[in-house]
Amino acid sequence: MPTTATRLNVFTESVIRGMSRLATRHQAINLAQGFPDFDPPEELLVALERATRGPYHQYAVTWGAPRFREALARKIQHFSGLSVDPEKNLVVTCGSTEAMMVAMMTACNPGDKVIVFSPFYENYAADAILSGAIPIYVPLHPPDFKYTLSELEKAFAQGPKAIVVCNPSNPTGKVFTREELIEIGRLAEKHDAFVITDEVYEHIIYAPHRHVHFATLPGMAERTITCNSLSKTYSITGWRLGYVHAIPEVIAQARKVHDFLTVGAAAPLQEAAVAGLEMPDSYYAELTDIYAAKRSLFLEYIRQTGLPFTEPEGAYYVLLDISSLGLGSDSAAAEWFVREVGVAGVPGSSFFREPVNHLIRFHFAKREETLHQAGERLLRLRDRLSTASPSTSA
Ligand code: GLN
Repeated sequence: MPTTATRLNVFTESVIRGMSRLATRHQAINLAQGFPDFDPPEELLVALERATRGPYHQYAVTWGAPRFREALARKIQHFSGLSVDPEKNLVVTCGSTEAMMVAMMTACNPGDKVIVFSPFYENYAADAILSGAIPIYVPLHPPDFKYTLSELEKAFAQGPKAIVVCNPSNPTGKVFTREELIEIGRLAEKHDAFVITDEVYEHIIYAPHRHVHFATLPGMAERTITCNSLSKTYSITGWRLGYVHAIPEVIAQARKVHDFLTVGAAAPLQEAAVAGLEMPDSYYAELTDIYAAKRSLFLEYIRQTGLPFTEPEGAYYVLLDISSLGLGSDSAAAEWFVREVGVAGVPGSSFFREPVNHLIRFHFAKREETLHQAGERLLRLRDRLSTASPSTSA
């Protein structure tokens, strides 16, 4: 048999998606892959029903159905203050997963370097490698996951073509301060690099933190390639609707990548999702409140386990420090959680470049009832804690 491409040997299948499958197999509560167990807003469901009877069953315009792009441009403009031309500044993609891949392939030549903060959402390294680029990592240091300027400067000194910034961050929950973002931008400018941002959690952010759209920073619009999606904002992860937002010169190239990768996102779903993009401001305020309540509820259970954990400033992930449970590696521990506790999380090592294996990531994008159930199960850890001998894991 011929050998498959060697670039595929340097990364694995997604651990996040793998944990989802394991959770299903063992009927565990899935707090691994970040997606809600509640329905999208009624307006979207009604619009989806209506779309099934409309003329939306064939390909939409490759870079996005006009009505969808127009609504999207208005929504982005409203929240960021940027002026967005639906014809020139947007490519609609199959989720931000495709958006990130498109951004990476648009920015990088084979052999180019891309800065990725560690820990990072696992797609970024795979996206870089599939684009022929080489990820270089800059650690975010716990407990507040700050980078150090000297480490970032050292990475930029290697002449990267781009830096990936996930803000609010998955899996740390960090919200970059405006000062940090300006500093990153200043370095990107100095070394003439693109800033590829993943801003899918822009509306899931906890007071007093506020989202800063990277492209709005002084002088940054022309080097920012913003990736975003409707998945988290409207609870429609299965609709696979995302987008790339950038200046026309970049979008003209990104359209080509998108065209030959997927041709386009699903036409009926773009039509239906316009109802989401047209939601009033109150919808977003409510979404933030709903997630703030879920965060408090879940963190209270986590606090009661007695284990150290990260409190997210944005997004909906918690990193739980399981070193005192004496369960061995985080992968073994994550399996144990699925089988013995009935709650699935993601082994932290799949997000870190560094040899970190004492963390498990749980998310709280679930109904309160589900979170109570998961929380009660997690409280059983206290029994284990009283008997476990401390682990030696790092
Ligand atoms: N962003 C989500 C997570 O980190 C999952 C997204 C996905 O699996 N495509 O869990």
